[in-house]
Amino acid sequence: MSSTILLKNGTALVHDANGKPIATRCDILITGATITDIRDSIEVPSVSTEVIDCESCIISAGFIDTHHHLWQTALKGLHADHTLLEYFAPGNFTSSLYDPNDVYWGQLAGALEAIDAGTTTVVDHSHINYSPEHSRAAIKATVDSGLRCFYCYCATPRVKAWSPIFEIDQDFLPEWVIPTLLELASAPLAPQNRVALGFAFDGFPYLPPAAIRSLLQTVYDAGVRIVTAHANAGPTWGQNQQSLFEVLNDKGALALPHGPAGPTDDPMHFIGSHASYLEASSAVTTLFKDYYPTLNFSSTPTTEMTMSLTHPRAMEPELQPHGSIGVDCHSACSASIPGQMRLMLAQARSARDAKLAAKGRWPSEVGKGLGVEEAYNLGTVSGARTVGMEKQIGSLFVGGKADVVVISCDGPGMLGIGDGDELAGVVAHSGPADVAHVIIDGIFRKRSGHLVLDDVQTNGQKTTWEDVVKKVKASRMKIRKEVEHLDMHAATSQIATAFHLNMGAAVGSDGDLNH
Ligand SMILES: [Zn+2]
Repeated sequence: MSSTILLKNGTALVHDANGKPIATRCDILITGATITDIRDSIEVPSVSTEVIDCESCIISAGFIDTHHHLWQTALKGLHADHTLLEYFAPGNFTSSLYDPNDVYWGQLAGALEAIDAGTTTVVDHSHINYSPEHSRAAIKATVDSGLRCFYCYCATPRVKAWSPIFEIDQDFLPEWVIPTLLELASAPLAPQNRVALGFAFDGFPYLPPAAIRSLLQTVYDAGVRIVTAHANAGPTWGQNQQSLFEVLNDKGALALPHGPAGPTDDPMHFIGSHASYLEASSAVTTLFKDYYPTLNFSSTPTTEMTMSLTHPRAMEPELQPHGSIGVDCHSACSASIPGQMRLMLAQARSARDAKLAAKGRWPSEVGKGLGVEEAYNLGTVSGARTVGMEKQIGSLFVGGKADVVVISCDGPGMLGIGDGDELAGVVAHSGPADVAHVIIDGIFRKRSGHLVLDDVQTNGQKTTWEDVVKKVKASRMKIRKEVEHLDMHAATSQIATAFHLNMGAAVGSDGDLNH
């Protein structure tokens, strides 16, 4: 028998027909994995119903994070003072030191950090796939965590050797990659498809058109409907370098999101991550419009602004209909989507004000499209559209999936919020500590402020949070010890060459930024 949960006396953020979230005093009934009623007052339907008193709480659709690398927990703290170039060797490429056990605990802790912060869906660009066992460990951890996830299996650039010379394996697609993908696609990864297979690939610019089309056809035929890639451009790669979206269009690959055989009602969705060099008036905007709603991008405000990827674009008025937000590296910043919403908001207003100041002018009003409403929507409904699930998640409605977050307004950070300013409360003030309950597919994954680890087992025993702490610390220590013996400087220079970075335009810490 399916469980029934009644969220009583809360204030829910319910979207109206125009996509505007409205703070609404109501009760919400969840039956099994579905929201089955939203009304002013709902009678308790049965003695077995679990009633949660949400007085003084905000009820929101679960947050959606459209770009994240969930495996990276052991690297947390390493990258706060890193540019993208400095991150590659000690961050991304130390994936080569992970065995499947390290992957399991790193991934589990990453997924749990997201759930703890109220995130219910993550698009995981999983560049940890050194072997089929690594992928299986990452998927198992994701399933065990309870998160809804597109596990985007990635054919990743792999380290061939750290010494005597750092070397990257030039074979982007070793012969085991596609068979592993097909095997993973052959059976559901989690009950009710809560964890679904996606595909991540950063080699598109280096493949000929026919190879790209064939690869995407294979992926589509395997049932994969989410494809993602880092869409970096700008001076790091050479000022006139095309964006990934233009590269894919030129190679005839963008028509594929509508279905390889032409328009279909079961399309593939493509997500470009970052795209922080986009110009709103560029040809890319036209591509976004042509392929709406299957072509989208994910801005990751913290990593883009702190790791030298310029600034996020998802709130720019022309790009907003195609944007969403993500965390990218929880090794470099908090995994809180409300945290990313408010950074996005601050950046968007600041960028607009800087443009005005350059003309000797200033804003007398916040202005259209730069409100908490737009920031909130980027982390909810826009994320749902980005993964093609707007009719199931991203907002609260009868018939939708029960991915719900309950945020308390009684903690020190939220005290004072209420009576209509709940939206501002979520975007401007809330943090993971305020997230009281997280329900995914109708199942509690955080309850009364504590993560629920019911599906995590170690050697047949139920795993506690203390067990997770021990395992992650041991894995982190093992990896950090191995890193001590590696020449990161030499590796960084090899990576810059392999990734075709425009080092002639790079400015070091002793460089003169005024010239
Ligand atoms: Zn990334």
